Amino acid sequence: MSDDCIFCSIVAGEIPSRTVYEGDDVLAFLDANPLAPGHTLVIPKAHHEHVQDMPTDLAGDVFAVMQRLVDPVESAAGADGSTVAFNNGEVAGQEVPHTHGHIVPRFEDDGSRPIHSIFG
Ligand code: AMP
Repeated sequence: MSDDCIFCSIVAGEIPSRTVYEGDDVLAFLDANPLAPGHTLVIPKAHHEHVQDMPTDLAGDVFAVMQRLVDPVESAAGADGSTVAFNNGEVAGQEVPHTHGHIVPRFEDDGSRPIHSIFG
């Protein structure tokens, strides 16, 4: 756990979140400022700032959870597809320095905007 990390505080139960999935090493919860209904974040419980900082096994676990959640997230949102992505590093728009994958439900009528136009 890292001091002053909002996602570590969520893992510790110190900040409320809406859990989508919880396993031993991976947590998924709804984004507090969703880009679309059902926007879900998937994180390693251990603090790692960037994708490449995670041990390979953990990165695999995070991706496996993302893969498993795509269908239920899309289905719950009534979506037609989803953007599944990591902002990796401040220059790429990563605001929370605890690596996290986004599952953003997408809809036929949302303009099919490319990824760089939906992540700030
Ligand atoms: P990024 O820009 O890739 O770092 O994305 C950070 C995401 O974390 C944004 O989509 C925020 O809305 C989301 N976020 C920040 N604080 C919280 C929180 N306390 N609970 C849930 N999501 C959060």
